[in-house]
Amino acid sequence: MSDGIFLDARKRLDAALQHVRLSPDTVERLHYPKSVLKVSVPVRMDNGALKIFPGYRVRYDDTRGPAKGGIRYHPNVSPDEVTSLAFWMTFKCAVLNLPFGGGKGGITVNPKALSRTELERLSRGYIDAVADFIGPDIDIPAPDVYTNQMIMGWMMDQYSIIKRRITPAVITGKPLSMGGSLGRETATAKGAYHAIRVMMKRKNRDLKDLRVAIQGFGNAGAELAEMLFNDGCTIVAVSDSRGGIFKQDGLHIPTVRQRKKATQKLEALYADGSVLESQDHDRITNEELLELDVDLLIPAALEGVITEHNAGRIKARTIIEVANGPTTGAAEAILAEKGIDVLPDILANAGGVTVSYFEWVQNRQGMYWTEEEVAQRLEQRMVTETECVLALAEEKGVTLRLAAYIHALHRLEDASASRGTEDYFRRRA
Ligand code: GLU
Repeated sequence: MSDGIFLDARKRLDAALQHVRLSPDTVERLHYPKSVLKVSVPVRMDNGALKIFPGYRVRYDDTRGPAKGGIRYHPNVSPDEVTSLAFWMTFKCAVLNLPFGGGKGGITVNPKALSRTELERLSRGYIDAVADFIGPDIDIPAPDVYTNQMIMGWMMDQYSIIKRRITPAVITGKPLSMGGSLGRETATAKGAYHAIRVMMKRKNRDLKDLRVAIQGFGNAGAELAEMLFNDGCTIVAVSDSRGGIFKQDGLHIPTVRQRKKATQKLEALYADGSVLESQDHDRITNEELLELDVDLLIPAALEGVITEHNAGRIKARTIIEVANGPTTGAAEAILAEKGIDVLPDILANAGGVTVSYFEWVQNRQGMYWTEEEVAQRLEQRMVTETECVLALAEEKGVTLRLAAYIHALHRLEDASASRGTEDYFRRRA
């Protein structure tokens, strides 16, 4: 991704700061990442050659608890992107009232070009490089774009080897047999689903009347598509990195998923098949999908897809940000003018980190919950915080994103003030 994502992200903070009175300490703190680690991860490739991959881990803020956030494997991973993602995690954890700060990691790599054994060596090598920087009480990684359960398992194992003790709470999104939580795989989609339900109820809209387009058919996008499909929504279009499919009277999502799966090359690793394997539908590009006339547009892939260049052509009534950072600041101003509501990433996709928190709790107490317990707790948190954000937006007459940031800032301010602020020390002097 091009440089400048972080500056764009920080502008959102500055906009929110116009609506809340915070101590200068909190404001100052939130403008900078706490620490940024850059590492070189050496990998012995299958052909015997040694290759170095650049890796990062950013701890943005840990005022509310240990840093929390995923690890991304993608050719576009850069320090700027990882810092922005860590910044968003800080606010996401605060919106959901999780006792965590924000962190993120990444490796600049095309994981689809690696063999399974190379991928394992890369994942273990990354943990070798960042082991002193992470920990159950310091910074807890998880999956993100192109990382998954299997990779989290390798990473937890490597960390445990280094520390010479089994440490499941160092990482979340693990396989069940290594201390993973039931319900983690579907958590991001379920969280978004609850947020959509609450939002549509407030708008007096029945899910059955909604026409939906979803960009991104990975873990979150595909699960959410199926949940909405099962509830009677008409999913007119879905896409993945290779392109999209469109059907005016609605796609049969279980069939699309099945066909995509059937063509996977690395079944357990990546959804390497494409939604394009579904032959009976019109093809559309990812760009065309974003401009469809639908009720809900759900970007569920990467950041920066709705920009000032296409925002004017967006016809959706509501955007649900399941990806992190899909809408740029400049685009948002255009959307607001057009009256398009945007349910922001730091709320809409927070289900994943919420169940990561449950996983961490279960690891630390050594007692595991049923799938129903996890689902209930997730629903309760998502519904409560979504209702809070919707009410705050109405009360203050601001966008949902601003409301979510304001909601998070109050919690961040409390944590910062509890440590002693400028005001406190001035008064004592
Ligand atoms: N990568 C996910 C996110 O962006 C999950 C992070 C986590 O579970 O810690 O929210």
